[in-house]
Amino acid sequence: MTPRGIAILGSTGSVGTTALRVLARQRDAFVVRALTANANGSLLRSQVAEYQPTFVGMVQRSDDADPAWAIGPDCLVAAATRDDVHTVINAVVGAAGLRATIAALEAGKRVALANKETLVMAGSLVTAAARRGGGELVPVDSEHSAILQCIAGRPTQEVRRLIITASGGPFRTWDAARVPSATVADALNHPTWTMGRKITIDSATLANKALEVIEAHHLFDIPYDRIEVVVHPQSVVHSFVEFVDGSVLAQLGVPSMELPVLYALTHPDRIPDAGVPAFDPVALSPLTYEAVRHDVFPALRLGVDAGRHGGAAPAVFNAANEEAVAGFLNGILSFGDIARAIDSALAALGNMAGDTLEALVQADTAARAHVREFA
Ligand code: NDP
Repeated sequence: MTPRGIAILGSTGSVGTTALRVLARQRDAFVVRALTANANGSLLRSQVAEYQPTFVGMVQRSDDADPAWAIGPDCLVAAATRDDVHTVINAVVGAAGLRATIAALEAGKRVALANKETLVMAGSLVTAAARRGGGELVPVDSEHSAILQCIAGRPTQEVRRLIITASGGPFRTWDAARVPSATVADALNHPTWTMGRKITIDSATLANKALEVIEAHHLFDIPYDRIEVVVHPQSVVHSFVEFVDGSVLAQLGVPSMELPVLYALTHPDRIPDAGVPAFDPVALSPLTYEAVRHDVFPALRLGVDAGRHGGAAPAVFNAANEEAVAGFLNGILSFGDIARAIDSALAALGNMAGDTLEALVQADTAARAHVREFA
């Protein structure tokens, strides 16, 4: 088989570097054709030396950039639509990944999507782009990879419920009164996953699960009232699918993003890989489950309600969350302020129109300005 060309948008991040580790073991099946980063020119330069892509792009100008590299935000779409690229791994963080996802799907590419904010902001536009261009959207998020593997092509009518697992984050067992004043160091101390800073804070607020519920709704075409979240601190069961006959399937694996990244590249096939330690049920036991403490983690409900509301509300939720997380990481907002800022943005802007990309970008911009004002 000719190796499939791969573009990685966000190759210098947590998912991007994980993807390169997987690809380094799978050189017979895949070849890296394009890499992009935002500002980390030195890491990008060393990746280029190792993987020799034909296209390299950076969003920001950097002293480390090579004159041959494409510079500026348009490099994402350029990388994602190249003729020598079969699959685009979108591992950019935040709304910045949206245009490249749409362009890749319109160009008929497979998009291995880690950049969940893309689907939250513009789910129906993204799925319409896939239909228009013949592109295919395959999730990289471990929960959605699990659901995809459990559904295994069965029709939506056979699915009664999706149950998405959540680690519960670092504050799962904290007293409710302590959580709003948690520090950045507390919030970055995730119990089971090592990830980029933004998603790690999203996991601490549970905003990440709201993003994932909305993502699941769009990927699998399941109504919100049939998508639930359960806390599962060990992060071994990546999600459950309950079918209409009452049977429940789950997908399990050691908590490593290498597994869903590889599956997103090979779906529906599987290829041999020995990247992660063997599954040891005894060592990984016990597996436990708890209800979500919605009173302590209001961002989950705010996000799911925004998804239900539709229009621009999910884009407002996403942008307000991105801006509030940046404010928290910069010491301008407290941990408790993140959900308060999102709530305030949704109350002010949740009814904006969201039927076109331009309207969604407007809502995104307005929500960011609202949160800066709130701060
Ligand atoms: P990181 O912050 O580690 O990496 C983000 C990547 O995107 C970097 O390569 C960064 O470049 C690039 N980037 C940042 N801002 C921009 C921008 N404005 N335009 C273009 N590129 C940009 O994030 P993660 O890898 O943790 O997460 C990436 C996505 O995957 C997120 O949507 C996250 O929710 C999702 N995800 C992550 C998981 C994980 O395990 N980390 C698990 C499941 C989903 P530079 O390094 O130059 O700044």
